[in-house]
Amino acid sequence: MSQNLRSTTQASMQKITILGSTGSIGQSTLDVVLMHPERYQVFALTAHKRLEKLIEQAHLCTPQFLVIADPGDYARAKVLVAKSGLACELLVGAEALAQVALAPEVDVVMAAIVGAAGLLPTLAAVRSGKKVLLANKESLVMSGELFMQAVRENGAQLLPIDSEHNAIFQCLPGDYQYGDLTGSGISKILLTGSGGPFLKTPLNDLANMTPDQACAHPNWTMGRKISVDSATMMNKGLEFIEARWLFGVQGEDILVVLHPQSIIHSMVQYKDGSVLAQMGNPDMRTPIAHGLAYPQRIASGVKPLDFQQLSDFTFATADAERYPNLYLAMQASEAGQYASTVLNGSNEVAVEAFLSGRIAFTQIAEINQECLQQIEPHVLTSIEAVIQCDEAARQRAATVMDEITQSKMSRGN
Ligand code: NAD
Ligand code: MG
Repeated sequence: MSQNLRSTTQASMQKITILGSTGSIGQSTLDVVLMHPERYQVFALTAHKRLEKLIEQAHLCTPQFLVIADPGDYARAKVLVAKSGLACELLVGAEALAQVALAPEVDVVMAAIVGAAGLLPTLAAVRSGKKVLLANKESLVMSGELFMQAVRENGAQLLPIDSEHNAIFQCLPGDYQYGDLTGSGISKILLTGSGGPFLKTPLNDLANMTPDQACAHPNWTMGRKISVDSATMMNKGLEFIEARWLFGVQGEDILVVLHPQSIIHSMVQYKDGSVLAQMGNPDMRTPIAHGLAYPQRIASGVKPLDFQQLSDFTFATADAERYPNLYLAMQASEAGQYASTVLNGSNEVAVEAFLSGRIAFTQIAEINQECLQQIEPHVLTSIEAVIQCDEAARQRAATVMDEITQSKMSRGN
């Protein structure tokens, strides 16, 4: 495995910043961290809006810093922190997120902010050579090559937390050299996905699915954005791009396999016919504990698999008609960095619009496809260019959305 992914870590006390601590991954991270007070001390917790949750978490782990990303909430946060009797310092704004990620006292950063907002603080952690636990796949999708270059140049240790990538990481040989599948005798990376809540929904009914139905994932409890991405399988598309960058492989090296039970979290197929799979109950505390303690193993609180209770394992191919977003992401990955960045930005706008009831479920893919087609190919050579591309994609997605919804309204749909 590449030096940056596999270098060893110490078992001594580690200080951790949890970016996005109030979210689903953030809360699971804090759960695991609190199980091991002899190993981890929390340096900072950050949130966008859920102040009460943030204060509740701070009581559990007494961090040095709390960060509220939205300046609009600062006054209320100040009052709440003062009332709480906590001795932590309160910081505000996007720059403060980066500040608590790069602080010299910090050893480990959990990157668990959702969406493009995670890019700069995650990069700040990478650029200061931290051990970075990457849940925020969007940052890698937006800036893959520049991101991986920053990992190499700054000696950061990047560990995948996304369950599939964590599984692949566990199934690769210990001496895997970045990008050299052949040298390790590997023939394919098998990226598994459940197919989400609409795996069996009649295609004609998809347009009428509500946000709550889309967020009711059969196996995983997650934030609302990634839940919708799982329903459209854009999540698997983003993961396809994420896997390419994390392991240095080509699109043709990865096969997406539907596995509705979510017990196998991904696999690596070797030339000799062996397939190594990583399995476990669908609970993010497993990959989180793996990343935290790597290369050691620690308890995560996850129940062991009970093979007497497991029903059949099934596998299938993801249908392009049901999951157009998956195939759009694969195309974007081939088209180049600008296309992945555009797709990510457009998708965030479309998912937000779906969640707030402004568009239908099936219009997410329509907007993404149109946005990808409308933006001219261009090369992104800096993070500033990535951010500009993201902003342009968001504006274009908003325009496309207006056009699509207005034309549907004028046709009486
Ligand atoms: P979530 O919505 O539950 O939590 C998101 C966190 O980010 C919250 O703490 C929120 O306060 C913070 N946040 C949101 N917008 C922000 C902004 N503009 N600035 C600063 N902070 C902001 O999301 P989640 O499900 O925990 O997912 C987090 C990340 O992990 C995503 O990138 C997701 O793709 C990835 N991931 C999640 C899971 C899962 O099981 N939930 C699995 C794999 C990967
Ligand atoms: Mg995943």
